[in-house]
Amino acid sequence: MCPDCGAVFREGRWQWAAGPADAPRQACPACRRIADGYPAGRLTLTGDFVAAHRDEIVRLARNVEAREKEAHALKRIIGVNREEEAVVVTTTDMQLARAIGEALASSYQGELDYHYDEGGSFLRVRWSR
Ligand SMILES: [Zn+2]
Repeated sequence: MCPDCGAVFREGRWQWAAGPADAPRQACPACRRIADGYPAGRLTLTGDFVAAHRDEIVRLARNVEAREKEAHALKRIIGVNREEEAVVVTTTDMQLARAIGEALASSYQGELDYHYDEGGSFLRVRWSR
């Protein structure tokens, strides 16, 4: 069981479940990434529309996270930051970064692209509108 978020490793994966009280404590991969500041996905959101609708866009990203996290304990947003003209969202999971990008594009159109870094262990998503 992860002492930070309470996720339980069972049947080969981390999930939201009640574990035995004496379960060994070990940080889950998502909490390790959060503690280490080591994301698996990074979305960079830019453009006038983003600047004008920042709160709405962040809310949509959080809704995607909430939905994904319910079934997949390791899919989480690490942080939402404003960097110069951009909003940057970092995630513990590549597929979550991709799902947020797709949700933005399907709700608001705009330009979406992905780039997997070498080795395929890190995903950069850019969305602009
Ligand atoms: Zn955890």
